[in-house]
Amino acid sequence: MKQYKVLDYGIVRLVDFMGGDSAVVQSARVSFGKGITNDERDQKLVFFLMANGHETPFEHSVFKFHIKCPIFVARQWFRHRMASYNEISGRYTEMVEEFCLPEQLRTQKTKNYRYNELSAELNETLRQKIQAHYNLSYELYQELLEGGVAKEHARIVLPLSLYTQFYWTINSRSLMNFIKLRTEEHAQYEIRQFAHVIDDIFREKMPWTNAAFHKYVIAGEKWSDE
Ligand SMILES: Cc1cc2nc3c(=O)[nH]c(=O)nc-3n(C[C@H](O)[C@H](O)[C@H](O)COP(=O)(O)OP(=O)(O)OC[C@H]3O[C@@H](n4cnc5c(N)ncnc54)[C@H](O)[C@@H]3O)c2cc1C
Repeated sequence: MKQYKVLDYGIVRLVDFMGGDSAVVQSARVSFGKGITNDERDQKLVFFLMANGHETPFEHSVFKFHIKCPIFVARQWFRHRMASYNEISGRYTEMVEEFCLPEQLRTQKTKNYRYNELSAELNETLRQKIQAHYNLSYELYQELLEGGVAKEHARIVLPLSLYTQFYWTINSRSLMNFIKLRTEEHAQYEIRQFAHVIDDIFREKMPWTNAAFHKYVIAGEKWSDE
């Protein structure tokens, strides 16, 4: 399976997939005791369903991903409840020394919702301090483990930037909600990078649904029955 790299140590990997555009068409047409017909009519049906908010047929396609991302991104990710999650355990597994360190640190947003740039010099000084903090916290983690402290307690010294891993199973209806919320500009840059990769995989697996989603949900176009 193809593995996409995101940020410094992150990954997105599609582990399994069920359904596709034809599954949307099939489940919508069951209302009339019918199934798929021809590409032109089937694609039009997908666009009609999307434009008019008939969302349940999109629940019959399911993606299973393996995700590796920083804990601060996972905390935002796990708020998407209409999905299934299983995460690596810090109680049973020794955590790997992988921390997210942004290339460019951002300032707090200004009143007009824009970020300012830190000077290159300050950015580098602060990044070095963060790296030193990561080194110290991981050394302490190791010291606690070597001293006989349980993993579930030793991990409390590790920062939110530590990478975690989880399996994420989600149907395409809920996936679109995730992509919509997490690719928009108010979402944090780091989760946006993952959401764009997820959107690329979604496009590859369900091209009609993805095109309809971008047209009617993201771009907000209205349905016209030409
Ligand atoms: C830019 C941004 C900033 C955010 N800031 C914050 C923040 O400061 N603090 C914070 O706590 N969260 C924050 N969130 C998280 C946000 O409130 C949602 O929890 C998250 O985006 C998941 O969205 P969701 O509930 O639509 O998704 P899901 O949990 O996957 O739910 C999907 C849909 O199912 C339905 N649903 C699910 N659960 C219920 C329910 N209990 N009752 C009724 N309907 C339900 C809703 O229609 C929902 O849209 C932020 C999100 C974004 C994108």
